[in-house]
Amino acid sequence: MTQSQTLPAFPARSYDFVEYVPAKNWIDGQWVDAASGQTIPVENPRHGKALSKVVLSGAEDVDRAAKAAKKAFESWRRVPIKERAQVFFKLKELMERDLEELSWLVTHENGKIIEEARASVLKGIECVEFGASLPNAAAGERLEVSRGVTCTQDHEPLGVVAGITPFNFPIMVPLWMMPQAIVGGNAFILKPSEQVPLGSLKLAQLLEEAGLPKGVFNVVHGGVDAVNALCDHEDIQAMAFVGSTKVARLVYARGAAAGKSMLCLGGAKNHLIVVPDADVKLTAENVVASFTGCAGQRCMAASVLVAVGEVDHVIDAIKKRASELTVGKELGPVINKASEERMGRYVDEAEKQGAKVLVDGRGKRGAPEGYWFAPTVLDGVTEDMPAWKDEIFGPVLSIVRVKTVDEAIALENRCPYGNASSVYTTSGAVAEYVTGRVEAGMVGVNIGVPVPREPFGFGGWNHSKFGHGNITGMDGYRFWTRPRKITSKWELQQDSNWMS
Ligand code: NAD
Repeated sequence: MTQSQTLPAFPARSYDFVEYVPAKNWIDGQWVDAASGQTIPVENPRHGKALSKVVLSGAEDVDRAAKAAKKAFESWRRVPIKERAQVFFKLKELMERDLEELSWLVTHENGKIIEEARASVLKGIECVEFGASLPNAAAGERLEVSRGVTCTQDHEPLGVVAGITPFNFPIMVPLWMMPQAIVGGNAFILKPSEQVPLGSLKLAQLLEEAGLPKGVFNVVHGGVDAVNALCDHEDIQAMAFVGSTKVARLVYARGAAAGKSMLCLGGAKNHLIVVPDADVKLTAENVVASFTGCAGQRCMAASVLVAVGEVDHVIDAIKKRASELTVGKELGPVINKASEERMGRYVDEAEKQGAKVLVDGRGKRGAPEGYWFAPTVLDGVTEDMPAWKDEIFGPVLSIVRVKTVDEAIALENRCPYGNASSVYTTSGAVAEYVTGRVEAGMVGVNIGVPVPREPFGFGGWNHSKFGHGNITGMDGYRFWTRPRKITSKWELQQDSNWMS
């Protein structure tokens, strides 16, 4: 019996508190402790107490994982891509089988309400599906480029690669990276957020059950030390990062300095532009779902509503809808005490600076324990306020008033982030004008969370991303592989030219 078979099923089927096994590293098909012997608690944000603990790794653990991955890579790269993809067909089936278990696990370690957790796992499954489909999309090219001379191009794996992920989507974000990387022939090391390490235990176990050879997927837990060791390790060829802009910038620079290909997705401050002809019901429901979903802890969440001209009728509907949400049932907790306090400070400060608190989420809780912040709407926010400038990463919507669509676009463009932006209008001309001018990589029309689903790639612009291309879709596959061009000739041509 392998050690992974001893990992028990996650038992919860409700929000009631349960404990779970400690999160150890998964290296070369074994659960192992970190060399430091150190652990930190993993909290259930709804209950505000530890459901597990996680090991803290450093350079020694990363080296151990890199060595195992390097060894596994040598045979994995020789497995035909169609066979590599079979593991992901199987993983999809296993994730569907264990959908409820995976979803409750996300709910308990991250805090999302169960419907949101389920949606996030389903989106992860969609990424697995894309990975499984790669043999149909990733065939190489061949062309006779000159008389008797043929050029072929195919995509070779890089070797050992790594991914670093944030707390807000414990299953989904690792699956933005790992299917393309592993189907592409690489061996992968995942460093999940130390706040939500448990989802990756299940992913490791399911990949083993799906038939992935040991050492092709490894998990190293921890924080800054583990990330720095990954950036510095000479056997790791490429790294993707998803997290805050501050850390994305640091990791991008450190990994690139060590010669790695880097793609680092950062934070966001998404602007939603509402014009007077917007459909009131659609806009209100959509804006509220965008800024309160996952308790506002999404990089695609609405953060600023740019109100163009007279749109008080829409704002009234947003205010009503946001006030109606039941905290604890329709809105989950925020990740930790520090987040709850940070949100409070932003609202207090905006109010002090003259913003009007239309809906006040301060002090409203979904349960006596845990970390909570209810939907909050601030009106009259101005550009000098931190509530406009900073990523609050909670269910707080800042309304900035402008007179024209051009002013709205200019405001959005002054925001250094560039993840997502949306426009709410019933006019095709206005929609086209705005979508062609906002500084964002993912733009919505009457959609507050404009996630480009597979096969389209996910990725922002400006301070929301360092590196080239998207993280999902074919860009992801290209990031994790390198094109090899082979030019051949098999006989001397009579009518020679410069290439013959
Ligand atoms: P974070 O930046 O604090 O942590 C992300 C990862 O980096 C974690 O694995 C963490 O252990 C590690 N880390 C933290 N500090 C570090 C440091 N100083 N040096 C090296 N590594 C470090 O992010 P978070 O709080 O876990 O997640 C929320 C953030 O992620 C938000 O800013 C959100 O917008 C962003 N996010 C972005 C996207 C996107 O697609 N652009 C998607 C999801 C989340």
